[in-house]
Amino acid sequence: MVIGGGASGMACAVMLARKGVRVCVLERGERLGRKLSATGNGQGNVTNRFMGAEHYFSDDREKVARALARFSEEDTVRFLESMGGIFLPDARGRIYPCGRQASAVTDLFRRELSRLGVCVRTGTQVRELVCERDVFCARGEWGEEDASAAVLSAGGCAAPAFGTDGSAYSLAQGFGHTVVPCFPALVQLQTEPSLRGLKGVRVDANVRLLRGKEEIYATRGDVLFTENGVSGDAVFRVSSYANTGDLLLLDFLPDVSERRLSEAFDVGGDLLCIVGNGLARIIVKRAGGDWAKTLGLVKRFPLEVSGTSGFSNAQVTRGGIPLCETDEALMSRLQNGLYFTGEILNVDGECGGYNLQWAFTSAWLVAEGFVCN
Ligand SMILES: Cc1cc2nc3c(=O)[nH]c(=O)nc-3n(C[C@H](O)[C@H](O)[C@H](O)COP(=O)(O)OP(=O)(O)OC[C@H]3O[C@@H](n4cnc5c(N)ncnc54)[C@H](O)[C@@H]3O)c2cc1C
Repeated sequence: MVIGGGASGMACAVMLARKGVRVCVLERGERLGRKLSATGNGQGNVTNRFMGAEHYFSDDREKVARALARFSEEDTVRFLESMGGIFLPDARGRIYPCGRQASAVTDLFRRELSRLGVCVRTGTQVRELVCERDVFCARGEWGEEDASAAVLSAGGCAAPAFGTDGSAYSLAQGFGHTVVPCFPALVQLQTEPSLRGLKGVRVDANVRLLRGKEEIYATRGDVLFTENGVSGDAVFRVSSYANTGDLLLLDFLPDVSERRLSEAFDVGGDLLCIVGNGLARIIVKRAGGDWAKTLGLVKRFPLEVSGTSGFSNAQVTRGGIPLCETDEALMSRLQNGLYFTGEILNVDGECGGYNLQWAFTSAWLVAEGFVCN
């Protein structure tokens, strides 16, 4: 039985069924793959051409590297295309279905599961999982289901609106597994000041993350001002590395040198024509008419990280079941026949398709290593 019908659970079920294994998927929601349908702003960024373990966080990154070497981004594309659809990268290496519709990817899975005769039970939240005399039994208000092996694919704590509220960790803890403390990742950052007046404004900026004097990470991309801080793809990438108290330095004109900016100011540069209305007002107010300060704020606007917007707004979970408690097929070292896939494990990736790649890679490891009794 596969517990959780999200990206990794559906993939694992398809891969197992193609091997001839009889599979049943237990999904607490009323539909399979609801989160998958929401990925990549609804466009489904399923993997990335620039793959590598350096894009992941885990207690065992080398194991992640070995896993990716066995089931790579190319394997993901081949696997997804084996169910229909065509997948292509954008200029930044992010791979999407050509139709740019994540729900169409979910539909590929639903169709393939049905074609393979996989039993799918929705509305079945597993509240208890036990193994007695080599038989796993999953129980809930809906009844119970028995199987010779169980795959825990129930996700983490991020985005509880999609059925993942962290309650599934207790199913693994029942077998003696530990849980590496969980934090929201790929999430909006709350900042001080919060620049509420800019809410809704989106800019293309260079973002540097500083801890004391040390630069921890730098990236370029969209920064979207929110009620309490900043969001957008550049911020999501930074959020993987950020701690409370770190400093964000935003360069609002990454393609313009300080010299050129200074020359524009020398001839009476109009900030409105340089950075746009909302930002100009805030920068002018802060700089108090001092052009050196104005220039500094355009190129290095400081925001202190005061927290994140929490699991409800996060895309993934940092933490989970440690990889070191599983073997190379992601089978539990504590309970024979119990496997893990996806985000429930202590693996999370950067923004850009890395988390779905882990969902598919981990699914393949389980299906490949699974031996029928
Ligand atoms: C808004 C959003 C956008 C994202 N965009 C991207 C993207 O573009 N690219 C990318 O790589 N990643 C993206 N991610 C992350 C990615 O979706 C997840 O990392 C991935 O779906 C994890 O797969 P999973 O199978 O481990 O868990 P999930 O897909 O979360 O599936 C877990 C399933 O288990 C079910 N479940 C939970 N507990 C139980 C239980 N006790 N009994 C039965 N069922 C249970 C849940 O209902 C859920 O359906 C995004 C995430 C979010 C929230």
